[in-house]
Amino acid sequence: MSSFSNELTEAQIERLAILSEELGEVQQCIGKIFRHGYDSSNPTLDSNRNNRDDLERELGDIQAAMYLLVRAEDVNIVNVHDRSNKKQSERWRWTHHQEGIAS
Ligand SMILES: [Mg+2]
Repeated sequence: MSSFSNELTEAQIERLAILSEELGEVQQCIGKIFRHGYDSSNPTLDSNRNNRDDLERELGDIQAAMYLLVRAEDVNIVNVHDRSNKKQSERWRWTHHQEGIAS
């Protein structure tokens, strides 16, 4: 039996579980958009929300989950922003259809 431990606290595990859950919800939204489009909505729900609304909500949930990790100092926001800026400056070299959008 290994004595290895990831040394995560219960609080850290919970924060990562929240982030993981929210990432999964965004994946589900993307799947719905691929299948039915941004403006489609679930006909079985009594709601005016469409797939774009759902994606926006879940992206916000990811940002909130990310800031939960930041506030707890699991990750450093400066490093997150540095990486984001670097990624944006790379001009999304391997995309085919992002002219005028990708920096
Ligand atoms: Mg969510």
